[in-house]
Amino acid sequence: MKARAAVLEEVGKIAIREFEVPRIGPDEALLQVEMAGICGTDAKLYHGKLAAPLPLVLGHEILGTIAEVGESAARRYGVRPGDRVVVEGSVPCWSCLYCLSGQFRFCHSKRSYGTGTPITVPPSLWGAMADYMYLAPGSVVHRIPSHIPDRVAVLAKGVLANGVQWIRIKGEVALGATVVIQGAGAQGLAAVVIARDSGAGTIIVTGLRHDRERLALALDLGADHVLVAEDEDVVERVREITGGAMADLVLDVTGSPAAIAASVRMVRKLGTIVLGGLTGKETRTSLLLDHLVWNEVRVQGVFSKGSEAVLGAIRFIEHKAEKYPLARIISHVYPLEQAEEAIRAVGGDVSGIYPIKAALVP
Ligand SMILES: [Zn+2]
Ligand SMILES: [Zn+2]
Repeated sequence: MKARAAVLEEVGKIAIREFEVPRIGPDEALLQVEMAGICGTDAKLYHGKLAAPLPLVLGHEILGTIAEVGESAARRYGVRPGDRVVVEGSVPCWSCLYCLSGQFRFCHSKRSYGTGTPITVPPSLWGAMADYMYLAPGSVVHRIPSHIPDRVAVLAKGVLANGVQWIRIKGEVALGATVVIQGAGAQGLAAVVIARDSGAGTIIVTGLRHDRERLALALDLGADHVLVAEDEDVVERVREITGGAMADLVLDVTGSPAAIAASVRMVRKLGTIVLGGLTGKETRTSLLLDHLVWNEVRVQGVFSKGSEAVLGAIRFIEHKAEKYPLARIISHVYPLEQAEEAIRAVGGDVSGIYPIKAALVP
């Protein structure tokens, strides 16, 4: 049996190639892919802004059905053929300090799906932008109920789990808190839902003029106020809305030095700023550090999330998926053959198309 896969052959070039579907050993499994989320990381890999060993099969936001599973893998993951699962993007080494403490996103010797393992490593199918994906021994696999729509289920391991990690676990959002979310992309929108459901009092989302549609969705997902950074002084607006109290928690997912500088001015004394956006290897952001010192502001960098957040996101959508129009975050779905077009659209290279978030269906 053969599987088609979208292979990033070199920077700026994706081809659909066929690979032999591997025979599965006792510790391995084979996933029939249902949907692969596309995120900014895929566009960065395509543009060479993130380094990766090429060629590789893309796709690290993984939703599918267990097609085959070896005996000991079945026991370990608690799955049978036909079970629907999401799979985490890292395959931990399970021996280092970070893996042993559950923080395997920092593992140095991990393998990873869709971002780090090239097709030269057998059996090549190390990414979700494919008909079938190989599940290596030691993968992190979570069952997800079949009644959840694919567009919602595919968010569980990605933006929703990040929202759980960044707003709740790292941001420590308090009941009634004022939360500012800077950035109205899929990540910011998912964070709105998590903040709303965590008991935030006031949620303010900032975006740009071209984010009108996203800001409208932010309101539907539970935001109380949306601000357009080119048209208003967002720091002053936060001051007005909060009666001068400012924000308890600011989540900045813009990757923009100007926005981050504003985030610092939006937070209250003893408040927290969570930085989830990347500004790039070359960019330096100048901040008034005295302001952080005088006001005892906590600045928390965040990189991805742990399994606690992924499990939290899955349980959340099991119970609350219907309460929020989450499926609207996936604005564009493409067939596998159009992987390159989809990733170019996500990267902003296709004029007239500005997906909130896109996904591929094999
Ligand atoms: Zn991603
Ligand atoms: Zn490790």
